[in-house]
Amino acid sequence: MSDYEVDLFVIGGGSGGVRASRIAAQHGARVMVAEEYRVGGTCVIRGCIPKKLLVYASRFRAEFEDAEGFGWTLPQATFDWPTLIANKDKEIARLESAYSATLKKSGVEIVKTRAVLVDPHTVQVADGRCVRAAYILIATGGAPTYGDSIPGLEHAISSNEAFHLPELPAHVVIQGGGYIAVEFAGIFGGLGSQVTLVYRGDNILRGFDDDVRKHVRQDMEKRSIRVITGCKIAAIEKSGSHFSVRFSNGNQSTADVVMFATGRAPNVNKIGLREVGVALGKNGGLVVDEYSRTSVPHIYGVGDVTNRINLTPVAIREGHAFADTVFGGKPTAVDHVHVPTAVFSDPEVGAVGLTEAEARLRLAQTDVYKSMFKPLKATLSGRDTTVFLKLVVDGITDRVVGCHIVGEGAAEMAQMAAITVKMGAKKADFDATMALHPTIAEELVTMRQRSASYAREAAE
Ligand SMILES: Cc1cc2nc3c(=O)[nH]c(=O)nc-3n(C[C@H](O)[C@H](O)[C@H](O)COP(=O)(O)OP(=O)(O)OC[C@H]3O[C@@H](n4cnc5c(N)ncnc54)[C@H](O)[C@@H]3O)c2cc1C
Repeated sequence: MSDYEVDLFVIGGGSGGVRASRIAAQHGARVMVAEEYRVGGTCVIRGCIPKKLLVYASRFRAEFEDAEGFGWTLPQATFDWPTLIANKDKEIARLESAYSATLKKSGVEIVKTRAVLVDPHTVQVADGRCVRAAYILIATGGAPTYGDSIPGLEHAISSNEAFHLPELPAHVVIQGGGYIAVEFAGIFGGLGSQVTLVYRGDNILRGFDDDVRKHVRQDMEKRSIRVITGCKIAAIEKSGSHFSVRFSNGNQSTADVVMFATGRAPNVNKIGLREVGVALGKNGGLVVDEYSRTSVPHIYGVGDVTNRINLTPVAIREGHAFADTVFGGKPTAVDHVHVPTAVFSDPEVGAVGLTEAEARLRLAQTDVYKSMFKPLKATLSGRDTTVFLKLVVDGITDRVVGCHIVGEGAAEMAQMAAITVKMGAKKADFDATMALHPTIAEELVTMRQRSASYAREAAE
């Protein structure tokens, strides 16, 4: 590797790139990482972390309201968006410098610049400087997409800008039905904005269990979020300081902010990938093998740019596995099965494993256990809400193959349930586990009555 200035050049200092750089350096590699925006990437700068801080902020409203039923009298609460954003920005800046410091401490050189491939072993950084590298890791993540062009699209913002609005909008129209759209609907709604969520499909949260999708929508509507499905934004027109939004169903609405959360695409353009022979897949991401190796043997790709499962822990695992494989002498493939996921919406969702629909397609027999009830907290608060829990069980082996939860603490529960699903725990193991009372999670070990059982339909 001595013909090269570095053993590894990483393009992108996000979740995957940072982890890969640090571990490769710890394995003794000379590593350089280029980041064109801010070290930490989407998760830290404009994804998971700032979003969760905003989610926390948005949930205080309900807490203040609920407190009354428990005997509290509170002065009228007021909310200040600029304070929240300033505090959030301070925390993000702290995290960014912590990430940079950890990389530097591990001996990684950070270059704050856009990087592009000029040949299979050469990366160009700022001022035309070229760096020769034995291995190159593409960890450039993804970016928001806006779908079809419509009149006035230039007025719409994405989640990137939503984190930096100068003030809390009185009325927000959000287009999209995925987790980012639904989470921002909860954030703005909780903070006091009037929210309209528009989605072209038949229901929000495609890919989640159908009961979960139904439950979340109903509960969001109870919290005064207007959900319009089977519809899209057809045009946005600026009128004074507001926007006039025309929908495909002919209706109209005004908005202070129009946000599109209609998907994200891998960052593969204008970085020289095609030119050096890196193959791209139908999903728009890099084609990689189980070790994250692209079609060019010394070029690898991890995280959202590969468009496998676009979540931070997955990008981190892939980055770590890459470094162990190439520089640690320990070939490691990442297991992408049973990845837990959450939607930090209001109500919250936590899920792992197969949905009922997926199980019914794959398994000879699927047993379903469901429970829906008013949580204890809602008895005194008087809040009109229910929690929902569902176990999807392989009717032949008794293995729990899916767990789906909607309600307070759902994400925390799903992380724990993921261990059991990953281990291959059986429904009988759940039944043998003592309940922890009084909790919502205890319902997972006390569901005795099967709600339904389905044999796989014979293929025609
Ligand atoms: C609003 C939002 C909320 C999210 N919430 C969650 C969540 O709750 N949980 C979860 O697990 N995931 C969440 N995600 C997804 C998560 O952020 C991503 O899966 C994760 O950040 C992917 O990591 P990555 O390393 O692949 O890419 P990124 O973190 O996106 O990092 C890529 C980096 O590469 C840089 N870059 C790109 N091109 C170049 C170039 N040519 N030269 C130099 N630098 C370049 C970019 O600036 C970026 O910093 C969320 C995403 C968004 C947008």
